[in-house]
Parts: sequence; structure tokens; C-alpha cells
Amino acid sequence: MTGTVYLVGAGPGDAGLITVRGRDLVARADVVIYDRLVGAEILDWCRADSEKIFVGKEAGRHSMTQDEINALIVEKALQGKEVCRLKGGDPFVFGRGGEEALFCLQHNVPFEIVPGVTSAIAAPAYAGIPVTHRGAATSFAVVTGHTKDDDSPPENLPVADTLICLMGVRALPKIVAALLARGESPDKPVALVRWGTTENQQVVTGTLSTIEDEVERAQLKPPALIVIGDVVNLREQLGWFDNRPLWGQTIIVTRAREQASSLVSGLRERGARVIQCPTIRVEDYEYDLFEHTLQYCHLFNWVVFTSVNGVEKFWEKADCDGRLFVNTQIAAIGPATAQALKNRGLIADFVPKSSISESVAEELIGRSQKDAHFLIIRALESREVIENKLREAGREVEVLPVYQTVPDNSQAVLAKSEIEAGRVQWITFTSSSTVQNFVDAIGAEFIAANRDKFRVACIGPITAKTAEQLNIRPDAIAENASVEALVKVMVDSVR
Ligand code: SAH
Repeated sequence: MTGTVYLVGAGPGDAGLITVRGRDLVARADVVIYDRLVGAEILDWCRADSEKIFVGKEAGRHSMTQDEINALIVEKALQGKEVCRLKGGDPFVFGRGGEEALFCLQHNVPFEIVPGVTSAIAAPAYAGIPVTHRGAATSFAVVTGHTKDDDSPPENLPVADTLICLMGVRALPKIVAALLARGESPDKPVALVRWGTTENQQVVTGTLSTIEDEVERAQLKPPALIVIGDVVNLREQLGWFDNRPLWGQTIIVTRAREQASSLVSGLRERGARVIQCPTIRVEDYEYDLFEHTLQYCHLFNWVVFTSVNGVEKFWEKADCDGRLFVNTQIAAIGPATAQALKNRGLIADFVPKSSISESVAEELIGRSQKDAHFLIIRALESREVIENKLREAGREVEVLPVYQTVPDNSQAVLAKSEIEAGRVQWITFTSSSTVQNFVDAIGAEFIAANRDKFRVACIGPITAKTAEQLNIRPDAIAENASVEALVKVMVDSVR
């Protein structure tokens, strides 16, 4: 059986702008054949055992010709594979999707088209430029600046209120000259948008008479598109994407990947460029008394979950449901942990107000009987404050380690080079161990030598104290040791 070829538009760069149909197909295809302008995150959705083939142009790599790409697509389909041919933007807007579909047809390979959000409209939109606007533009035209292997626009540029030119950076002088020659005003507004919809978006504006100088001054290089028309002026009011509070800030997140998602998305939503530099990784821990402890779980008066990881790893291992704790009160340290329990159908009986271990212990003591038995589910190498305090107060405590954190230096090289180049504005620490591990991974001397290049934000007073002890004076400390507050403290300080 011949496989189907899906010509899928991946959208303009922001991974969130692919269609639902497109995402489904990426996730199930046997083979994914993709171009350069396809957002990297999209490829993370591929099946682990799928074949991913890059066919775009990239400096220093041999790039495939269109004939070779056509042959590859058909070859895979004829092997019976489902092929997702992923293209930047929309497959039929200067994407050569038509040629690939015709080639499939010639070889009796079934195909489907999944349209995408074209950069021609989306990149201007992310720059705050609507391609049509009442009173300013009743039409728009999309044109290529690259005809037949030549860096020049077509001889007759279309007439429209808004003209959008793809692949036109090198042809800019010819485009400007052609428009002026046909009588357009030298004051006509022009914008170039590079890497639109991504965290690297760059916008340069001017008029037909000034834009070449502006582009030269900004050193703007492809891939970019050109927008010409009065609508460009709306950017001043409608610019939103690059107006977000953390735009232009590169922020290092040192939290383990497994735990970092809310911080990473919180920062990205406010415009930051995030470099994930986890210095620890969460790994399974095989505790030999695990099964044994499970058997008498019902005898505990309290079970305390100290982290989201603890909840997840425990249930992964336990392979049973919430009835395990019918007679047991459940405590979750922090709202995120409570939510993780809720996702498993368990409502925590108690979530302490504070996240500082000392106060958590006090609150637990206040709530429990004098001879209560506690089970604490946590990481192998957690701080022992809670259990020690409980024991001091006469409670019986059993500890159940369900995961461990191990050092991870894989991102240290990238982080160092970005810091050294002065491209990092903030480093965030979300626990004492992230500070310690970051110092171990990057080196205290390196940090001292580059300390004036970045600011440091800590999630709470304990983390801040550790940072201070390790010679990293914090510039900002979150008000209430939560991810939201950590994001806020950075937003406030760049305002
Ligand atoms: N099929 C694609 C266009 C492919 S041609 C689409 O519908 O968007 C490639 C050209 O598209 C680039 O040279 C550039 O001019 C433009 N382009 C693609 N992605 C872009 C982006 N994120 N920002 C600005 N221009 C982009």
C-alpha cells in the first residue's frame, strides 16, 4: 500500500501557530521531511521512532535540490509510509507545494494539503501591522523578491494598498526603485520583519526614501519580509509582541526541565527569550522498602507530598489508585503539588500557607494528634527540616524517597558563552540546590569574572541566602516564593 503524503503548513515560526490538523499529522507520521523555517519545537511532537529528514538550506550543509526532495517524498510514500512534508508558513504560498503535489500525482501517490498560517500575514500581524485596515488599505498583494534564481522582483510589481514581499531583502533596492519610478510617494511607509512571530523577531521601519539606510544601519539579514503601505504606521499603536514587558531580555532558567515548564511559559508569555540550563535532572530512585511501605500505607495518619515530582513518581511506582489513602490525611506542600494530586483525583486535606520548611512543620504539628504517624514522600536528597521538626514534636515519621536528582551539565557550555557575550540579562534560581549546582557547573570564578553582565533573581529568602553565601548577590527576590512572584519581580524591575 502506498502511503499518503501530507503537505503541511507549519506556520510562520511560533510553534503555536500550526493548525490542529497539522499537529496531529506531525505526531503520527512515519516520516517527517522539513524545511529550515519550521519551528524547532514542532519537531518535538514527532513520534520517537519516526524518521526526521531535514531538506532545507543551511550554511555549510549540502542542500537538496527540489528534484531530490520530490524524489525523496515519493520514495518514502511508495514504501508504504505516511509522509508529513512540513513547510514553513503555508505550503502553497511560495513554498513549492504545488510542484510537490504535481509530482505525487504523476507517481500515483495520494496527497492532501494542510494549509498553514503564512508569514506574509502573520509576521506583519506580530509586528502590529494589519495587512488591511478600514480607511488605510482595502487590498493586499503578496509578491516574491526572488524570481528564477535571481535576486530581483518581478518586472511588474502588483498594485495594491499593501504590498508584501517575501524573499526580498536583497532585492530591496530594486523594489524601492521600481515603486518610486511608477510614482509612489517617497514618504510611503515601509517595514521589514525578520524572524517574525519568534523570539528573535526584529522589525525595521522607514519610508521608501529612508528604508535602505535603516536596513543597513540595523544590519538586517534574511529571512525577512517587506511590507509597504500606510498600514505600517499602525505599528506605533498596535505593536504588541515586541512590546511585552520582558521582550529583549534573555533569562536563564536553572530549574530541572521536569519542573521548569510554568516558569518557562510564564517568562515566554511576557516576551522573554529563555535559555534552559538545568543543572539537575530528576531520575528514578529504587528504594528497597517501597513495596513494603505501600503495604501498610493505610496505617499512617498523614501522608505528606513535598513536590510535584514526588506525586508523579510515587503513583508511577505504586501502580494503584487513591483508595490507598482512605483513612489518611493528605498534605501537599504548595499549590502546584496540590494540583498534581488533584489531577489524580485526590484533594489535599491540607496545603500549608508557607512554603518554608520550618513553618510547614509547625503547621503540620498544629494540625496533627500528638502520636500521629507521618509518611513523607520526597526526593532522596531533600532537606530534612520537616521530618526532624515533626520528630522533635513527638510524631512518628517514615520517609519514602521516590526519586533523586542528579547533576546535569549538558547546557553549561551554551550558558557560559551566552553570558560571556553579554547576551544574558537574568539568571533565575528556584531553590538552594539550583544555586549550588549552577555554581558547580559554571564555576565560581567564571561567575565572579562576569558578574556585572547579568542580574540574579531568587524565588525566596532561603534561595537568596544560599546565593549570597556562594558570592552571588541577588538583585531581586520574589515576594512569596512562587513562580508567579518570581516572574513578577523581573517584570517590575525592567518597567
Ligand atoms: N511558505 C512560506 C514562505 C516561504 S518563502 C509562508 O507561507 O510563509 C520564504 C520567505 O518567507 C522568507 O525568505 C521570508 O521572506 C518569508 N518568511 C518566512 N518566515 C518568515 C518569518 N518568520 N518572518 C519573516 N519572514 C518570513
